[in-house]
Amino acid sequence: MTENPTAATPATPAGVPFPAATVLGYPRIGPRRELKKALERSWAGTLDAEGLTAEVGALRAATVDRQRELGLTEPAAVPASFALYDQVLDAIVATGALPARFSDLAGSDGVIDRAASFVLARGDVARGPLEMTKWFDTNYHYLVPEIGPETRFSPNAAELLAQAAAGEGLRPALVGPVTFLLLSKAEDSAPEGFDPLSRLDDLLPVYRELISELGRAGATWVQLEEPALVADQDRGDLAGVVESAYRRLAADRAESDPALFVATPYGDAEDLLAPVARSGVEAVHVDLVRGGLTAEQTALFTGEGAPALVAGVVNGRNIWRADLDAALTRLEGLRDAGARVSVATSTSLFHTPHDLEQETALPEERRRWLAFADQKIREVAVLARGLAEGREAIAAELDDARAALEQRAAARSTRDAAVRERAAALTESDWHREPAEERRAAQAADGVAGGLPAIPTTTIGSFPQTAEIRAARAAHKAGRLDDEQYVGRLREEIRDVVALQEELGLDVLVHGEPERNDMVQYFAENFDGFDVTDHGWVQSYGSRCTRPSILWGDVSRSGEGLRGEAFTVPWIGYAQSLTERPVKGMLTGPVTILAWSFVREDQPLGETADQVALALRDEVADLEAAGIGIVQVDEPALRELLPLRRRDHADYLDWSVRSFRVATSDVRPSTQIHTHLCYSEFGEVLSAIDALDADVTSVEAARSRMELLDPLQEAGFDRGIGPGVWDIHSPRVPTVDEVSTLLGAAAEVIAPDRLWANPDCGLKTRAYPETKAALTHLVEAAGRVRAEV
Ligand code: GLN
Ligand code: ZN
Repeated sequence: MTENPTAATPATPAGVPFPAATVLGYPRIGPRRELKKALERSWAGTLDAEGLTAEVGALRAATVDRQRELGLTEPAAVPASFALYDQVLDAIVATGALPARFSDLAGSDGVIDRAASFVLARGDVARGPLEMTKWFDTNYHYLVPEIGPETRFSPNAAELLAQAAAGEGLRPALVGPVTFLLLSKAEDSAPEGFDPLSRLDDLLPVYRELISELGRAGATWVQLEEPALVADQDRGDLAGVVESAYRRLAADRAESDPALFVATPYGDAEDLLAPVARSGVEAVHVDLVRGGLTAEQTALFTGEGAPALVAGVVNGRNIWRADLDAALTRLEGLRDAGARVSVATSTSLFHTPHDLEQETALPEERRRWLAFADQKIREVAVLARGLAEGREAIAAELDDARAALEQRAAARSTRDAAVRERAAALTESDWHREPAEERRAAQAADGVAGGLPAIPTTTIGSFPQTAEIRAARAAHKAGRLDDEQYVGRLREEIRDVVALQEELGLDVLVHGEPERNDMVQYFAENFDGFDVTDHGWVQSYGSRCTRPSILWGDVSRSGEGLRGEAFTVPWIGYAQSLTERPVKGMLTGPVTILAWSFVREDQPLGETADQVALALRDEVADLEAAGIGIVQVDEPALRELLPLRRRDHADYLDWSVRSFRVATSDVRPSTQIHTHLCYSEFGEVLSAIDALDADVTSVEAARSRMELLDPLQEAGFDRGIGPGVWDIHSPRVPTVDEVSTLLGAAAEVIAPDRLWANPDCGLKTRAYPETKAALTHLVEAAGRVRAEV
């Protein structure tokens, strides 16, 4: 390792300065979801390997052209960031880090080819796929590498080279070595306490080789993404680890080696910025939307040998137009302090949809406030021009952005005085119910819960969304089915679902959610203050996309008056009218609605959450008034929004928990409130789950084999709990024995009057044959365990 200071600024061969304007990445899915369609056809066997390569190649080339056209004209300004499935999977492939349980997939040369990478992503008959988890505090999911002491690393640049070949002079991009290992989990076979980061020394030579190979193929810059540096990690010496890792990558480079660009999106790298900046790499990105730069940190970018400062001033993960004035002032300040400044987005743009121009149905007033990926590239390019040529050069753009911003700030439409007054008047008593014990007694005496057996059986809400339901929705949207016909069609569906549940012998029924295209968008469509888009697709994982709604104004239920109109009662009330058994009302919680929408940034998120909570509170009250005795408010995203820094947790949990409680506290003690969370590792949110004060909480637990129950008990959680006993993520039907074993294990820890039997999550992605079979087994298993306790 070379530590002498003159080696800190290696004369990289090309000597090409970092581009003045860039982005960290661009949507991969395609403006018409071309990638999704190509992948799904290839998995279905209707597109062969060559066809997939051709379609993906065409999409990538078009994507590069588009970015060039929008203003990223310098060769290395466009990153070759085109993961087919996932960028972490690409890093697994590039470093050859094949988990032991997939070792048979390695080619003769040890290489993971494309077909093998799809097995890692999707599993096969022999084994489940790599685990998937949320990418920082976003709604994107990455595949979790499994690393052990024996994992072999070997460079394979083929996929990176293929991506770089999509255009002239592109900047190859890959997840950096520190983040790669910090995001990895220890292989099951690894010894207790094994830390994947301990393999960094073995991984770095592989990165060096990859980088050199990219250089030999013509790359002048390579982008290494290190977002893990912006999140709290339980490691004292990370600064030293980071610095020495990057010194090793930067030292003693060959003539043909590219310059190194390290990016730290999604937050503030704080103490870990300096180690990167003084390691000898040539450019460093900082997220100036979420993070900042102290004077001391700015000084890291001044003076001889300092890296270029790639200033992420345009928000890459929301859809509002940038404040160009403020951004330019910021950039000028950094330049005047002596830094060599380039303009960039705060994160990759793959969290935003492609192009606002596609949204012709949005009202003109609000369209003016927005910027999707393409518009954001224009903003970056304009700012770079303003920085280089002076404000006058971009006066028209500055004026236009300022006018739009002022118009939005003054817009009466975003503010509803009555909603604001109501939210401002909230007090403690609005988010407190009677003590849990008292509610239990009331529910047993006067509530529907009184009629239930021990270990009641239920589901999480949705039943299979069949092709027929989707076709009916599409026909209704296209005007081929009128309102009455559509409602009739959905009622038929509800009738069938209720009858089926009675036949299966479930204790608490649901209406099945056939009217919902999506658990958040459906609410956005029935609330004021939201817009939905036609083409605003964003990748969630692999080929899966979601279409986040846009929360732009004060929120209440649509319809006359402050409280608007109930919109779930007609469906749920109808279901209840068909059966003697209790029907559980089903709502999406405030935090999840925020997490899966694009949210306004002109007020604290907690204030927006209160408004959404009040709208839901009205719906809960209407459900109760309509005779619904159990209401479930789902919060699968509660953990997702948890801030990356621990010091911010308390504040987040405070408003998020309060908003859930505002939504659910305006009911009689005899009404039973349920919640549902889509994960089994409560970790950091354990106390928050208790604080939600729901009477019953259902969680995912089948795959983790109930391991959440002990920590839950230790934490003193003493209300109802429904640990999932059927992993609904796969079509596999669990046997009665399997379900009984899981439920029996739960019954050893949880008293039978607090235990519920339910699947892990909703059934909307399942088909009817496995749904019927698995629920039959679930009911039978519950009967068995009930008889034993
Ligand atoms: N009630 C929703 C459903 O069953 C819950 C979905 C979720 O937790 N993601 O579909
Ligand atoms: Zn769920």
